[in-house]
Amino acid sequence: MPAKPQTLEDAFVEELRDLYDAEKQLIKALPKMAKAAHAEQLREAFREHLEVTKTQAQRLERIFEMLGQKARSKPCKGMKGLLEEGQEIIEEDAGAQENIADLDLIAAAQKVEHYEISGYGTARTFAQAIGQKDAAQLLDETAKEEGEADKKLTQLAKTLYKEAFKAQRGGVRSMGNGSSRPRRVRAGEEQAAQA
Ligand code: FE
Ligand code: ZN
Ligand code: FE
Repeated sequence: MPAKPQTLEDAFVEELRDLYDAEKQLIKALPKMAKAAHAEQLREAFREHLEVTKTQAQRLERIFEMLGQKARSKPCKGMKGLLEEGQEIIEEDAGAQENIADLDLIAAAQKVEHYEISGYGTARTFAQAIGQKDAAQLLDETAKEEGEADKKLTQLAKTLYKEAFKAQRGGVRSMGNGSSRPRRVRAGEEQAAQA
């Protein structure tokens, strides 16, 4: 058990260690998420956020340095749980209709982004409160990037919902093994068959 924080600075460093661990976990998970994504745009979004995430981890290392602290991480159970859920979803959706599998993956990824937005929001306010202006500025940059990642995923989800909805209404339903067949013949064809 580490020493209980006695000062605001100690408590701030503890928060940074949690965030640092969260970013490192995400760096390991994002390639798997990219691999699981079906839509090229989603794969690309995950790959792009992987690069952003590496920068965010480096930004935390800079803050540790500014504070005269070693860049150490403290296991972030929140991120671990969110990523376990993500992995579970990937496994459960193997063979599911592709748009739906991608939408589930986006939902899991957005939970991660919201968790980070919350963590960085707190850390930024904390830094401001203890007069760590430069740290606050760096944390704000990351908070904004997490927000952008979240918005991008919402946009992608909207597109995928539309596509999935259109496919269903068009009477084509995935059979769950990657193949699909029309559910019903079109009205014109039905009439022709009756004639
Ligand atoms: Fe991040
Ligand atoms: Zn955490
Ligand atoms: Fe993120």
